[in-house]
Amino acid sequence: MAKPFLERNLRIAPIDVYIDPPQPQARAIITHGHADHARSGHGAVLATPDTIAIMKTRYGEDAAGRWEELPFGEKREIDGVTVSLHPAGHILGSAQVRLEYAGQRIVVTGDYKRLPDRTAQQFELVECDLLVTEATFGLPVFQHPKPSDEIARLLRSVASFPERAHVIGCYALGKAQRVISLLRESGYDAPIYLHGAMLRLCDLYVERGIPLGDLRHSLDVPKAELAGQIVIAPPGAIKDRWSRRLPDPVLAVASGWMSVKQRARQSGVELPLVISDHADWNELRETITETRANTVWVTHGREDALVYWSQQQGLAAEPLRIEAYEDGPEDVQ
Ligand SMILES: [Zn+2]
Ligand SMILES: [Zn+2]
Repeated sequence: MAKPFLERNLRIAPIDVYIDPPQPQARAIITHGHADHARSGHGAVLATPDTIAIMKTRYGEDAAGRWEELPFGEKREIDGVTVSLHPAGHILGSAQVRLEYAGQRIVVTGDYKRLPDRTAQQFELVECDLLVTEATFGLPVFQHPKPSDEIARLLRSVASFPERAHVIGCYALGKAQRVISLLRESGYDAPIYLHGAMLRLCDLYVERGIPLGDLRHSLDVPKAELAGQIVIAPPGAIKDRWSRRLPDPVLAVASGWMSVKQRARQSGVELPLVISDHADWNELRETITETRANTVWVTHGREDALVYWSQQQGLAAEPLRIEAYEDGPEDVQ
């Protein structure tokens, strides 16, 4: 392949535009609203309408000098580079970035998953020459179970402990809304109670057309009424003073990381729910193959196994070590 027009720090060289830059830049394309990808302070931000709405909600209207909406599938020509955004299936508005310049096609996946999710636009496979893929769960041990089975486990526990509240630790953007939506999909139509930190983003999802059913602020009801109910809270809140307001809570956490049993045990989680918004090992490999890319750059997580696997398939592959992407508390998915 000719020298890629994308640099390893995800700068699009011919037009000096960065994808998900960790530092403020004059022009940025943002894949989705999570904090390790979407930062405030850029001159101009190009993103999907949902991502821009999320960034404005989290950071304020003036978090970028200029906002440019690019709906899914529409092409934008910038000085000879054709840019389009395609659903990544990770959270509401999350996009893969497709770039074409001088006959070379590049796709940057951002964070993605391929399982259907009513709270995110369905992942779309995009063929390319160079694929820049995430690798959060890029090890063969990561094979996510079906989310509906995890929700069924939760509901069995709720039925078994009618005197206790179930509090589910979920990241406030994406995971909380997905867990609520999965509960609704499984037929659970009781009110779901929210920690205050969840309210704004749940409202935004509803405003943007994602139904979440009957949601209530957990502070609005007396403690006793929360017995037998489900409460959604940030992972950090489930063990602090706040949770003393709940009747004998069962602590649950919904995250792809919950498949690491030791991690769940160490964090004192009674009911680990393996619900991930990232592709697992099988999805990552399938995607690399199906895009028919001949070159693969691996970033955002456990790069080495996926690089090695790609090379075994005869592809040119290398890790990108971009330090900005970490699974801190902001990105527990
Ligand atoms: Zn993300
Ligand atoms: Zn991420």
